Amino acid sequence: MRKLAAGNWKMNGTSSALCEAEAIGEVANGARAEVLICPPTTLLSRLSALLSESPVATGGQDCHAAASGAHTGDISADMLRDAGARYVILGHSERRTDHGETDEAVCAKVTAAWNARLAAIVCVGETGEERDAGNTLAVVTGQLKGSIPEGASAETLVVAYEPVWAIGTGRVPTTEQIGEVHDALRASLAERFGAEVADGIRLLYGGSVKGANAAEIFAVSNVDGALVGGASLKAADFGPIIQAL
Ligand code: 13P
Repeated sequence: MRKLAAGNWKMNGTSSALCEAEAIGEVANGARAEVLICPPTTLLSRLSALLSESPVATGGQDCHAAASGAHTGDISADMLRDAGARYVILGHSERRTDHGETDEAVCAKVTAAWNARLAAIVCVGETGEERDAGNTLAVVTGQLKGSIPEGASAETLVVAYEPVWAIGTGRVPTTEQIGEVHDALRASLAERFGAEVADGIRLLYGGSVKGANAAEIFAVSNVDGALVGGASLKAADFGPIIQAL
């Protein structure tokens, strides 16, 4: 399976960030891993056009569950696709917290993404309190089951494990902790979709990934790439992560 280095720019970047995307495109040339940038929606069209000759794919950070209609301020999966996206991140913990997205809501968005021929990157992850209470595996496998509709395939689904307490904090789980969760996610996918499908679905780790810790994280079994926030904004930081895959 081809590993995936995905950058989630979150609510960062205006026109001046396009030169960083170009520089990331240069790193992606000749990289073993697939490279993806999910910029803010305002940059998606321009970034997709700019990177059309490069191996870098682009994606959205969210979409609405409906195909169109009276939903002021929202973006449909079709609109993302039309703007050049091939992927969309769904159920990120910041969406779950800031916008109260439930597993059920995320699941409906995944269906909308698939209907628009976008691959969904579905995020799961426990809070610090849930980990301290020993509930990590129950929380993440529960989110996984609730957030993914029937009919997933390796082409249409990527899963990202992002412990909430590791996002933007510089705190990273041990490689044993990452391995334990990724093994459980793979087993849960296999139970539902069969081993062959599950083995092809990429499982990304996200949360304070940096050039300095990337190789160690990528050596963990069942880690098939990374979903990178802060360190994906600059080619100088994202480049070493891409090259570690
Ligand atoms: P950081 O890499 O900034 O910790 O963010 C991770 C993340 O939330 C990616 O989706």
